[in-house]
Amino acid sequence: MPFRTTIAGSLPKPAWLAEPERIFPTWRLEGADLIEAQRDATRIAIGEQQRAGIDTVTDGEQGRKHFVHGFAERLGGVDAAKRQKRGIRGDRYEAVCPTVTGEIRRVAPVHLDEVRFARTLTAGQLKITIPGPMTLVDTVVDEAYGGRRELAFAFARAIREEVADLVAAGVDVVQLDEPAFNVYFDEVAAWGIDALDAALSEVTCTTAVHVCYGYGIPANVAWKANLGERWDQYAHVLPLIAQSGVDQVSIELAGSHVPPDVLLLAGTKTVAIGVIDVASDRVETPDDVAGTIALARRYLPDERIVCSTNCGMAPMRREVAYAKLHSLAEGALLASVGL
Ligand code: ZN
Repeated sequence: MPFRTTIAGSLPKPAWLAEPERIFPTWRLEGADLIEAQRDATRIAIGEQQRAGIDTVTDGEQGRKHFVHGFAERLGGVDAAKRQKRGIRGDRYEAVCPTVTGEIRRVAPVHLDEVRFARTLTAGQLKITIPGPMTLVDTVVDEAYGGRRELAFAFARAIREEVADLVAAGVDVVQLDEPAFNVYFDEVAAWGIDALDAALSEVTCTTAVHVCYGYGIPANVAWKANLGERWDQYAHVLPLIAQSGVDQVSIELAGSHVPPDVLLLAGTKTVAIGVIDVASDRVETPDDVAGTIALARRYLPDERIVCSTNCGMAPMRREVAYAKLHSLAEGALLASVGL
């Protein structure tokens, strides 16, 4: 069995759909034209993954402006028009965020139409990504709950309702994105894992959590440059995730200072290792990818390894991202020779 492949979630949007190389782009169209363009972009995103040979594909997040806001702004209790600047991810950078003004309720499905459409484009494994409770809490301004834990469990309820519909629509993998887990270790232990488990309780498909060092944007690149030679964030987080009910954990490995021995701390979880750096435009060779997989094999049995990207590729240039998809799949095949 060759190593399985997937991507963290997002792919670049075409310039005719949205401003390129932005994490919070402006749409080029509106109304029915926008939906049609998003669907065309989804066809390309899934087609490019299939052409490269990626096993578990995503819709490339072509139907949402941003991986957190695209979900948060569609919930009741969130005022998307009341946008305020705040420091996020431990004040690593400032972001303009929507405001929680009342009780969080899922008033209608959020990504269901996108999943139903993506499902028609592939008979293979389909993954959907949704922001996790802690990352949602960390990407809104709260004027209603007064406590991060209470707000997190309110988001977890909304996620659970959404996930039930997406599983019924045929997704194979549900991944919650929790970059905030890499910042607030005490809160991950105190309530982050419980909120994650609450959001994914009774889910019948494969579940995953993605914990990363963020997109390759300047604020993150500068942050990483100050983390020293041995990034120990996962040493705090992985033992906690090991205690959760989630099936898979998706982490960054390629081109980073993540010490690979932290993989030993993932308990019995399957680990989607990042073998593609999203903070560099240099396209890894298949040999580079196979080398990163070989590193992970020192600490994980083959059956618990999935090969992925370090994070989403939304802000990258399209041709770079597509080239990286090919290296990911070819490198995973190369590493599989002799298995
Ligand atoms: Zn990420």
